[in-house]
This record gives sequence, C-alpha cells and structure tokens, in this order.
Amino acid sequence: ESFNAAVSNARQLNAFLVETPDHALAAADAADAVRAAGETLKPLAGVPIGMKDLFCTKGVTSTAASHILEGFTPQYESAVSQRLWDAGAGMLGKLNMDQFAMGSSNETSAFGNVISPWRRNDGGNAPLAPGGSSGGSSAAVSARLCPGATGTDTGGSIRQPAAFTGISGIKPTYGRCSRWGTIAFASSLDQAGPMARDVRDCAIMLEAMSGFDPKDATSLDVPVPQWEQGLNASLAGKRVGIPREYRVDNMPEEIEALWQRGIEWVKDAGAEVVEVSLPHTKYALPAYYIIAPAEASSNLARYDGVRYGQRDLPEGANLQAMYAATRAAGFGEEVKRRILIGTYVLSAGFYDAYFTQASKVRTLIARDFENAWESCDVLLTPTAPSAAFGLGEKSDDPLAMYLNDVFTVPSSLAGLPAMSVPGGLDKHGLPLGLQFIGKALDEQGVLNAALAIE
Ligand code: GLN
Repeated sequence: ESFNAAVSNARQLNAFLVETPDHALAAADAADAVRAAGETLKPLAGVPIGMKDLFCTKGVTSTAASHILEGFTPQYESAVSQRLWDAGAGMLGKLNMDQFAMGSSNETSAFGNVISPWRRNDGGNAPLAPGGSSGGSSAAVSARLCPGATGTDTGGSIRQPAAFTGISGIKPTYGRCSRWGTIAFASSLDQAGPMARDVRDCAIMLEAMSGFDPKDATSLDVPVPQWEQGLNASLAGKRVGIPREYRVDNMPEEIEALWQRGIEWVKDAGAEVVEVSLPHTKYALPAYYIIAPAEASSNLARYDGVRYGQRDLPEGANLQAMYAATRAAGFGEEVKRRILIGTYVLSAGFYDAYFTQASKVRTLIARDFENAWESCDVLLTPTAPSAAFGLGEKSDDPLAMYLNDVFTVPSSLAGLPAMSVPGGLDKHGLPLGLQFIGKALDEQGVLNAALAIE
C-alpha cells in the first residue's frame, strides 16, 4: 500500500543493473538436493541475494554503476560474495548504486536513479530517493524483490538507505568483512555489510559475510561470533548513551520525536539511558570529506583506459590524451568532483593543511568514542537528519547532500560497528531509522540493541 503508484512493475524501480536468475536457481536446486537427501542445510541454503554492483562477481559484469567500468566482467569472485555462495546463497542480480559508492541518493549512478518503493501518504506521488549509495539494495529489499542484499558503507551507505526504506542494515567493525574483490572507494573506511528485513536476517547474513582473509591487509584475524545464536532482546543491565552533540541545529521535529521514541523503547527493554559527550562530532563531516576523496583520488587512478572497461582513443591521440579522454567520458560529475578534491588535499603544498589535519581529527573522534565507552555500552542516535527526500531535490547541491551523512560518518571514521533499524514513520508515512553504534568488535551488542526495539 506504500508502493509508489507511479511504479506498476518492479523493474521500474531500476534496482537491478543485471539479473542473474540462473545463479539463484542453481542455489535453490542445490538446497533442494540437500533437503531431499535429508542432510543439513547451510545457513543461507537457496536464499536469493541481491549483490551491490561494487562487488566483483565472476563472469557477471561489475561496474560500480560507472561508465568507466561498463562491460567489465571480472575473472574472480569477491571474498564477500564467495562467502555468501559458500553459505548456500545464490545471486538474483547486481544492484544499482551511486557511482563508485559516492552519494546519498543513488542519483550519481551512470545507469539512472533508483526509485524508492515508498511514497508519501498525503497524495504527493513524486518519486523519492531510496538513499545511497546502496540504493538498489534498499529498494530491492524494501520492495520485497529479495530477502537480503549486500551493501557497502564508507560513510553511511548501508545505514542511510536502510533508514530511508524501512529496512535494517549493519556496517560491522572495519576489517570484519574482507575488501578483496570489492571495488575500492576509500580503503580505510570501506566496509561491506548486510541489508535485510529484520535484525535476525542481518545477523545470519553478516555471519556468512565476515571472516579473516589474508588477501586483505586490513582484514581482522579474529573469530566470527555466532551472532544469530547470541541474539537477545533484553537490555537489562545495559547502558545506552545519548550523545549530546548529535542534537544538531535545526533538527527537524520528527527526528527529535524519533530519537525520543527510541529512548523510551530502550528503557522499556531494560536499559539505563545516560547522556554522553562526543566533543569532536562537528568536525567529523569535514574530516570525512577530505579523507574519503583523498583515498578515492588514489584508488581511482587505476581507471586509465588501459586495464579496465571503457577506453576513448581520439584520432591521433597519444597516451596522455587517451587517459584524459577516457576519464572525461567515463567518470560522472560527482566522481570527478571527489577526484579533484582528493588530489588537491593530497598535493604537496596543501597536504599538511588538509589531509594531515583531517587524519588528526579522525584520531580525536575515535578517542571521543573510547571515552564514551566508560559510561555506556552502546550509543543511540537517529540514522539520518530527515526522511527520504524527493529525487532531484538535492542533486544540484553537493553540500546539502553531504549533510545527510552527519550521524553516520563519525562511527565510520572510528571504524566502529553501527546499525540502522526502523524507528517508525514520519507524518507523511515515510520510514525513519534509528542507529546504534557499538564498541569495536561488539556487533552482538549492536544487534541486540536493535532487536530490542524492532
Ligand atoms: N554519502 C557518503 C559519500 O558520498 C557515504 C557513501 C558511502 O558510504 N559509500 O561519501
């Protein structure tokens, strides 16, 4: 009933860039055979999963929603997707996203925006953004096209789209999921994670996706807990911290109300609520928008028309001109903006003023969280400063777009696990998300807090 009336066919959501039904059917057949033989089914036996197009999938085009990778078909499988297949899942298709995961609305995709399946209940039927960058994932799961999807989160790209579409999504501790075979955006921040209908499904998927991988130098060599088995919706004896500095200026009334609702819910689940301070919060967004573009400019240098995807070779062009023509035609506007910012903040004359400074701020932000853990076990905040906005509403205003990440970026800079879980609807009937942020490696604490208010 909340489906956008302008969408008569699920394909009009533009959530999938490629459909791979044979892959999903093979997994379903394999599950049937195991069932028929009376053997034990794997945790995700036969489950059709949507894969964000940032993950390289063997023999299936993987584009990061950019023209520069159009037609690129990897010879290998990403570590995360391989783990999902090893757990019995199959792939329904590759999901649309913001180009190279840069964006908060899925509008930077080279292959068209995704439409959220949600619509306002006041008769307004303008198409809404599904959030981003994992907007294909959020739209597909919330429209019930698949029970779960992968996302990646560099500064909020799992949590914000989950919040916009009324589903759940968790970004684990940095290093839990291998980055091997995932197209890089900002390597010190990028983390994969699941997006699904509820907390339990997220726990099951995350368990399959996580684990040490020697092929990723920042992969954590620690055991993967049995998160699903450890689920517990009681918060008795737990302290939930409310960070004072997240009460930003001009916070919309419905976001205030959402947060208050969350506070009541965790109290009902037995938690003690305490106010905490994260004094450097206001510097997180500026630091992120220096560090992430800096790393992106370095990572995206590999797309030069020689090794992957698109090549533009104008008549009589030399190598330099080929690079320039390829990159000019292949990268979208937002990607170019990030590369320019990134090369600027890394340039010899400005490195100390920008990149070094931002790295120091990052350390201060991580310390803020360390200090907060002295008085609480998990933090509760809104996921995003608003409900889903309309397509086109912010696409010409990068700063307004970046402000969407205000609540998700600090935990990304600190590498901490964080999850968005539905927190009710606003006055227009649109979903809002609540975020829990946990201590490093305490995904269980985050999942349990989310379960307690689900
Ligand atoms: N919106 C943020 C950005 O554009 C976060 C993106 C992400 O997490 N991949 O950088």
